[in-house]
Amino acid sequence: MKAYRMLQWKTPARLVDVPVPEAGPGQVLVKVGGNGICQSDLHMMDDWEASPPHLDIRLPMTVGHEIGGWVEGCGPGVSGFENGQPCLVTLSGCGHCRYCAQGWNNYCPHKKPVPGIGLDGGLAEYTVAPADAIVPIGGLEPWRAAPLTDAGLSAYHAVRRVLPLLEPGGTALVIGVGGLGHMAVMILKALCAARVLAVDQSREALSLASGLGADACLPSDESTAAAVRDATGGKGVEGVLDFVGAGATVSLAARVIRPLGHIVVVGRGHGSFAFQDRALPYGAMLSTTFGGSKLELMHLVSLAEAGAIRPHLNRYPLSEVETAFERLRKGQIAGRAVIVPDGR
Ligand SMILES: [Zn+2]
Ligand SMILES: [Zn+2]
Repeated sequence: MKAYRMLQWKTPARLVDVPVPEAGPGQVLVKVGGNGICQSDLHMMDDWEASPPHLDIRLPMTVGHEIGGWVEGCGPGVSGFENGQPCLVTLSGCGHCRYCAQGWNNYCPHKKPVPGIGLDGGLAEYTVAPADAIVPIGGLEPWRAAPLTDAGLSAYHAVRRVLPLLEPGGTALVIGVGGLGHMAVMILKALCAARVLAVDQSREALSLASGLGADACLPSDESTAAAVRDATGGKGVEGVLDFVGAGATVSLAARVIRPLGHIVVVGRGHGSFAFQDRALPYGAMLSTTFGGSKLELMHLVSLAEAGAIRPHLNRYPLSEVETAFERLRKGQIAGRAVIVPDGR
């Protein structure tokens, strides 16, 4: 089968022929319906010189961690799935620690490797995942549902962290309306009555945000903090979801957050934030996230089944995966690009 594989660090991956994998003990073989591509794939290929210690990635490895498909077979010891069943692949947990016991498998310190993050990923015709990472999706189309696993789930998890603050009359600010940010705008509009402000450098991203229901769309420049203050009657916002995580975006967030507000930094833009007295208003919080829980992905599948979220997708065949990554590198993808094995 064809697979888009990273052979060396700091080198773009290549489409090569490899054998179809087999599901080992505790694993499920998934026939890939689609794989969404992500800024973190670019960080892995373009920026990293070795695996970060918490991920344990060894090369060569097939890229792709945003996978929808069909169960194609189960390894020894796995039951409860039917061949042909549409499914997503999410993060796995050890199942035994306190984080897992609370349902926070995404923060489990002993996570098993999953496709695209340690195991061979979904930019291929087939992939293999731990059985506890498989989430059935009922009647959703696998390629359309694939971005729910990362772009959708990371956004949903971040939204849930600020949701208790977003009462009617409140305001949420979404910084960066790309793959994750455009999901956050839809999820916020589906779950709460607060106003949603969107900030981005790209006009196309802002027009996407506006079409998805954002109440105001603001270009990113030196006047953005003042524009956010104007849009909120001078009060600032209860919640910020920063999908960029650069120095400038974290600083914008700190300038517009209200007392007791919450800034959630999801983007891995290597921003720094100098903490000092009054760097934030009293009671305000700043936190980071990693993905979302398996239960949260189930919530998100239900939202998609109900038609409450309709991700903006661009479909590419696997033979054009390099073109899709090149467009992502140049910031030319509105919403999310999903790579589909040729002929599926
Ligand atoms: Zn990702
Ligand atoms: Zn655990």
